[in-house]
Amino acid sequence: MSLDIYNKKRNFKKTKEPKGVNEKTSKRLKFCVQHHLASHDHYDFRLELNGVLKSFAVPKGPSYNPKDKRLAIMVEDHPLSYRNFEGVIPEDEYGGGVVILWDRGTYKINYYDEKVLKITLYGKRLKGSWSLINIEDNNFLLIKENDKYANLYKINNFKTSIKSNLTMMQIKKKYQDK
Ligand code: MN
Repeated sequence: MSLDIYNKKRNFKKTKEPKGVNEKTSKRLKFCVQHHLASHDHYDFRLELNGVLKSFAVPKGPSYNPKDKRLAIMVEDHPLSYRNFEGVIPEDEYGGGVVILWDRGTYKINYYDEKVLKITLYGKRLKGSWSLINIEDNNFLLIKENDKYANLYKINNFKTSIKSNLTMMQIKKKYQDK
């Protein structure tokens, strides 16, 4: 099962993250982005495919500048329900740190082959056409395509959760020791 690795890495008695169960693929494919302040600050970019979220850790986060090629490292599949998750993962657990839901929406696949996935995102913050290009092993480049949304936003301007409107520090206070 594609969520076995996800489940093995986590102790669900300690973390509030959802348990990994496969779900039916949605009619409209979903995506989400989490801003995750763990041992390293990064963004997690997740795309629904075959009932799970294909997941990529993006150290610098996505960029609206088509000239930027942002490294996106494929990690273990996550359950679909993870698209609603934000909170605090205990420090000594896998991925320990603060997670805010940074963006969420639907997407469509425009093109794919062995190395390239081209998609259109319909999020609150991420919009328009993007490419994920496999450069080697689990390493991909996330690139904004040149369309009317190119250079629309600077992603660093968005410091709050799209779900709760809270910042990372506020999420930390709210969920710590709960
Ligand atoms: Mn992460």
